Amino acid sequence: MPEKQPYPLMTHCPLCHALYAQEDVKLVAQKEGVKLYHSACGSCGHGLLAYLLETHGGISSLGLVTDASGADALRLAQAKNIGSDECIQAHRLLTEHSRDLCRQWLDISGKLA
Ligand SMILES: [Zn+2]
Repeated sequence: MPEKQPYPLMTHCPLCHALYAQEDVKLVAQKEGVKLYHSACGSCGHGLLAYLLETHGGISSLGLVTDASGADALRLAQAKNIGSDECIQAHRLLTEHSRDLCRQWLDISGKLA
């Protein structure tokens, strides 16, 4: 059974104010009173990720404009969390090899060619 659209929070695009069609809003993840929705505006093409927290006192929300598609949102919601060791490794990589990384990125984009 499809979930009812979370009115009134997900009715329209916050950027162009076009109304969302029901199929534009998808439940991406749900856990213990917190729901993550993705919406894609059929008018301007922008996406929105919205967390809705349901408590006894009401509903709180937090929205983030994104270029992630609904498929991206599903994939990221199911991905493994990044741990502190991986953050430290990434920091070290960027610190110790930033010149090489920038050189490779610029070369890929053709700016050094
Ligand atoms: Zn829009």
